[in-house]
Amino acid sequence: MPFTRASLDRLRDAIDMVALVGERTELRRVGSRWMGLCPFHDERTPSFSVNAEEKLYYCFGCGASGDAIRFVEETEALDFVAAVEHLAARFGVELERERGTGASDRGERRRQRLFELLERAASYYQRALWESAEAERARRYLLRERRLDERVLREFRVGFAPDAWDRLVTAARGQGFSDDELTAAGLASQGKRGLYDRFRARVTFPICDRRGRVLGFGARTLDGADSAGTGAGSGDRAPQRAGEPAGPFASRSPAGPKYLNSPETELFRKRRALFGLDRARAAASRAGRVIVVEGYVDALALHQAGLPETLAAMGTALTGEQLAEIARLAPRAVLVFDPDPAGLAAMSRAGEIAGAASLELRIAVLPAGKDPADLVAEGATKVVQNAVASAKPLLEYQVSRLLADADAEDPDARDRAAEEALRLIASTDAGPHRTRRLVDELCDQLELPPAWVWARLRETHRALAGPRPTAAGGTSSGRVGRAARSAGAGVDRAGAGASTRGGAHLGPTPPAPDPHAAEREFLVAALAAGDSGRAALERASRDLFASPLWRRLFDLLRSGFDDPIAIAERDGAAIAKAMTEVVHAAQARGRSDEALLETQLLQLQLRAVERRLTAAPPRLAPEERAQLVRERQELLAALDRMLGSRTR
Ligand SMILES: [Zn+2]
Repeated sequence: MPFTRASLDRLRDAIDMVALVGERTELRRVGSRWMGLCPFHDERTPSFSVNAEEKLYYCFGCGASGDAIRFVEETEALDFVAAVEHLAARFGVELERERGTGASDRGERRRQRLFELLERAASYYQRALWESAEAERARRYLLRERRLDERVLREFRVGFAPDAWDRLVTAARGQGFSDDELTAAGLASQGKRGLYDRFRARVTFPICDRRGRVLGFGARTLDGADSAGTGAGSGDRAPQRAGEPAGPFASRSPAGPKYLNSPETELFRKRRALFGLDRARAAASRAGRVIVVEGYVDALALHQAGLPETLAAMGTALTGEQLAEIARLAPRAVLVFDPDPAGLAAMSRAGEIAGAASLELRIAVLPAGKDPADLVAEGATKVVQNAVASAKPLLEYQVSRLLADADAEDPDARDRAAEEALRLIASTDAGPHRTRRLVDELCDQLELPPAWVWARLRETHRALAGPRPTAAGGTSSGRVGRAARSAGAGVDRAGAGASTRGGAHLGPTPPAPDPHAAEREFLVAALAAGDSGRAALERASRDLFASPLWRRLFDLLRSGFDDPIAIAERDGAAIAKAMTEVVHAAQARGRSDEALLETQLLQLQLRAVERRLTAAPPRLAPEERAQLVRERQELLAALDRMLGSRTR
C-alpha cells in the first residue's frame, strides 16, 4: 500500500460519488439511491445504482460493483495507484505516501525518471520549434502549408528536433540523465561512436497517456514538405512500421522514413498508443463519441475545426488495445478514413478480441483522395463536419461498399457480392428497420427480387446460427467491446447473446405476451402516481398478484415506497433489477391519473376472482362460488362505471 491509511480515509470522505459517476452516465435520484444506464454494459433501461452515502455502485444487470477507486480503475483504465492519484486530484486531497523499500520502489523511481526525461525532451523540442532559427522551415510547413494555428500546435506541444546528432543527448546528460535512461526512454540510440539522438531534423509530436504524460514521439521529416505544399496530405500518414534511421555520422542528411516513431520501450507501446488521447478525453466523454483519424496533422486539423474529441490512430489498422482504450472514453467511435479491406478485417478481429460490449463503430467518408487535414487547410471545414455528422454504421458502410464494388457487367461478381452482403447482414443483430433498409438496398443495387433475398437471408442466418452460434461474431454490427469487461458478464449478457444473436426479427414468431403484464403495470402506475399510488397499494392485497415476482415487488413497495431500490437490493440482483425496471418505467411515464390507477386495481381484482372461480371447481362450495360470482358482477359494474366516466 503506497499511501497512508489516513490519507486514503481523507480521500474517501472527500469523494462525491454521484458527481464522479455522473460524468459517465446520467443519474436520477430514487429514494436513497441514484440510478442510470450502466457504463459497463450495453443496456436500454437502467439497472445501475449508486449508493451515495456509502459511495458504492452496483449493476443488477452485469454485476459490476465497487467503490470510487474501483470505478476509476475500470472506467479510466488506471491501476490502483493511478486511480487514487486521479481521485485525489479531482477532489483536492493531498496524499501521503508510505515509506517504501525494495525493488518495486526502485522500479517506480526509474519510471518517474523516464517520464521526467521525456517531459524535458518534449519541452526542449517545443522550444526549438518556436525559438530556433533552424526551425524556420518546420514553422513554415506547419503554419503556412498545413495552415495549423499556433494555438493548436502549442496545445499539442508539437516541436522540432534539430538537425544534429547529439544535441538532446548532450543536454540530457548535462541535466544528470544517464545513457541508459536516454536509450530506455527511446530518445537515443547506441552507435559505434557513442550515443546519438534518435530524432533529427524532424517535426515532433509527443504521444501521451490519458493523464498527459509523454510516453514517446512521432516525428516527421521535412523532406518534400516544401514542394508538395498543402496537397501533400494524402500521402501524409503515419506509417505502419517505423524504420530505423541510417547509421550515425553516415551523412548529414536525416535519412530514414517520412515518419519515425519512438521504439517500443518500457513506457511506449505502439499497439496501445493513441495520439491526442489526453487532449480528446474530456471532450469525448461530453460528446459521447471519439473521432479517430489516421495522421497527427489530421488530428490537429480537426481540433482546429472545432472537433476536440478527435485523436489519431498510429496507422489505419486499429488494434484491440486501441479500441478498448477508445471504448473507455465514449460509447461511439467515428472513423474518419477509408479503411482498406485489411483495415476492415483487422477491425473485425479487434472486435472479436474485445468481446461483446459497447463500442459502436461508424465510418465517415470524405471526398475521394482527401484527408481531413487537406480539407481543413482548404477552408472546407464544413465538409469534414458533415462527413462526421453523417457517418454510417460499420455494417451499412461495408454493405454499400460491397454493392458499389460489384462489377455491373459480371453476374458472378454480383452473386458473390450478394452472398457476402447477406452473410454480413445475417451475422449482425441490426434490428428490423436497419435490416429491411439493407435488404432494400441490396435488391435495388443488384436487381434481385425481394422474396428471394429474404429467403436467402433466412437460410444464411440459420447456417450461421447452426453449429456454432457465435461463429459469426457481433463484429460487423459495429460493436466492439471493452477488453476483459465481458469476462464478468452476468446472466443478462449471456441471455441477450443467445436470443438476439439469433435475430428474432427474422423469424415469424413474436415473443409471447407476459401473462402478468397487468400486475407489473399496476405497480408502475402506482409508483408514478405518488401519494395516490401509495394509497392504491394500501387498498390492494397480495393475492391480486399471481406472479411471485410482482407479488414480492408489491410487498417491497408497500414497505419502502419512498426508497424502492435500496429496499429491493436486500433481495438480491434479480429482484433489484425488476425493481429498477419498474422505477424506470414509472419515471418515463410521469404522473399517471388516479382514474387509470383505479381501473387497473379493479382489473387485478377481477382477474383474482376469475382465477379463484376457474381453479379446482370441485373444492369450491356452492355458496362460496355464488359469492365469487357476485363479486365478479360488482367488479364488472364498477369497471363499467370507471370506463364510462373516462370516455365521457
Ligand atoms: Zn452493468
